[in-house]
Parts: sequence; C-alpha cells; structure tokens
Amino acid sequence: MSTPHPANIHKLDTDLKKQTIALVVPACNESENLRPFLDLVNQTTEELDAYYWEYIFIDDGSSDNTWEIIEDLAQTDPRVKGVSLSRNFGKEIALTAGLELAGDVDALIFIDADLQHPPHIIADLVAHWESGYQIVSTKRETIQYSMTRKIGARLFYFMLNRFSDLKDQSRGTDFRLLDREALKVLKTFEERTRFFRGLIDWMGFKKTFVTFSAPDRAKGESAFKLGSLTQMAVNSFTTFSLLPLRVTGWLGLTVVTLSLAILFYMIITQFLFEAIYTPLAYFVVFNTLLFGVVLAALGLIALYIGHIHTEVIRRPLYIVQDKIGFEDE
Ligand code: UDP
Ligand code: MG
Repeated sequence: MSTPHPANIHKLDTDLKKQTIALVVPACNESENLRPFLDLVNQTTEELDAYYWEYIFIDDGSSDNTWEIIEDLAQTDPRVKGVSLSRNFGKEIALTAGLELAGDVDALIFIDADLQHPPHIIADLVAHWESGYQIVSTKRETIQYSMTRKIGARLFYFMLNRFSDLKDQSRGTDFRLLDREALKVLKTFEERTRFFRGLIDWMGFKKTFVTFSAPDRAKGESAFKLGSLTQMAVNSFTTFSLLPLRVTGWLGLTVVTLSLAILFYMIITQFLFEAIYTPLAYFVVFNTLLFGVVLAALGLIALYIGHIHTEVIRRPLYIVQDKIGFEDE
C-alpha cells in the first residue's frame, strides 16, 4: 500500500472538508442572459472559494439557442452542467428536474437566469446558511410588473394568506437556498402539481430570509403570460386549500336553511292567519330547497374529495428535524 505524501494528505483533508453548493437555474429562452448571468455568478463565487460550485442549467424547452449556449458554457467551465427538457414543462417542473439532477450536494440555490435574482445575493444566502439556517429565502423589495399582474398578485396573496395553509407568501421569490436536510425532504414530495415556494414554506425547518430589490428582467420577455400565471395561482391555491370546495357546501346549507324557513313561514301563516299563496309560490320555494340540498350534497362530496386529495398527494405526515439516541443518526 502506498502512503500518500504528507502534503497530499493535507490537501486531501481540506478537499474532503470542502462542501458543494449547486445552483439550479431554469432557463426558457434566455440565450441573451446566460453569459452575463454566469459572469456575475462567477464574480460572486470566486470569493466563496471555500466551496465547490456546480451550476446546473435546465433548458426548459427553449425555442431559441439557449441549449447551444449552455453546451458552450459547459465546455469552457467545468462547473457548468446542463439538461435540456424535451419540451416546455414550466418553471416548477424545471426546478424539480434540477433538484433531482443535483445529486448529493450540501446546499442548493434556486436562481432565475434573467438576472432578476441578483447573483451577488448568493453571498448573503451562503452567509446565513453558514450561521446555521437551513432554508434561506428571499423577498423582493421592488418589482416592475404591469398593473394587471400587480393587482392579480395582490389578490392571490391575499387569498392565500386568508384561506390556505400558507402564510406570508407575498414578495416571496423562488430565489432560495436549501441545506442538505431540507433537500432530502423536498425530494420526497410526490405531488405532480407543484408550487415550489409553497412546498418549501410548508416544510418548516430553521429558516430566515434576505431582501433584495428586483431589477427589470435583463433581456427577453417574461415567459409567464397572464394565462399561465392564473393557472399557477389556481393550482397553488387548490393544492394548499380546500376552501373552494367547502364554500359550495356552506352555500348549499344556507340555501336549505333559508328556504326551509320560508316554507315554514308560508305554511304557518296559511293555516293560522289564512294568508293565501299560489301553488307556484310553494313550488318555487320547494324547488329552491331541493337546489340547496344538491349544493350541500356537493359540499359533502367535496369533503370526501378533500380526503382523497390529501391521500393522493402523499405529502410526508411530518418532518423530523433532529434525532437523539437513535442508531441511524
Ligand atoms: N422559466 C422556465 N420555464 C418557463 C418559464 C420560465 O424555466 O416555462 C424560467 C425563466 O427562464 C427564468 C425563470 O424561470 O429563468 C423565471 O421566469 P420569468 O423571468 O419569465 O418569470 P418572472 O420573473 O416574470 O416571474
Ligand atoms: Mg424574471
């Protein structure tokens, strides 16, 4: 057996201690942004050379030459890795692909390619991680979006805060760092319709956030159109809240109660005070009553669907933060 040179032992030692941080960068038609993005990222990571860095680009079915650029970058920079998805699957799925491809890393950072998530913030994320936080999120201070998108976003977050399991989502972004433990849990999520930010917040863990001001997207157009944003809003709402289903049931119960009350009123006044109602009036009230029963029944079915929903998405029941005295930890 050959013994390594003492100097090499030392080198091996420090190498072993070096931890890996991966950046996961979803990119859909970002050909003009990728190079400037990588330059800025490198400026930041140069100073964080106590870590191994890995940049994982996910080309989410771009129609421009994003993939060629990623291939190019991978050839000149060994830290760059790329995957090209067969078509556009949407950002949430692109992030999932990145998460799965990242492998065994000590921390992972999700970051947009359009420079709206300023790469220099990576240093802050890492600093918070070093001080013991397991999830470091970001909030943006300013954002230049169109009026409709702003109003839509406001409404969305208001509803989410009010009626779902998720609180305080506004101004949150996908730009975040997760440590090894949090990643392990995130990978176990099996639900197919996913709202990443929501999931990450749902997980708990020791977390904090940094704020930054979001500049305009560097080049190109936001790939999110109003339609897909609305769809994402509806998805994230329905995966974290059963409210829309419950409302139907409550509406039904209200209709039943009201029409029953009116029916009783009509019957009592007819017999005691000889008030006169046409058969049509009875018919209408009775009909409304039946309508209410149907709605209430829908609400009831909704409760069952709710249970099925929670069963099929198979979220972990709980997440263990720490263990003591067990053999495997
Ligand atoms: N993106 C993606 N697939 C999509 C839409 C967007 O991978 O279907 C990427 C995009 O390239 C960018 C990030 O997700 O890196 C954020 O997209 P965008 O800037 O369009 O969203 P916005 O900043 O307007 O919310
Ligand atoms: Mg953007």
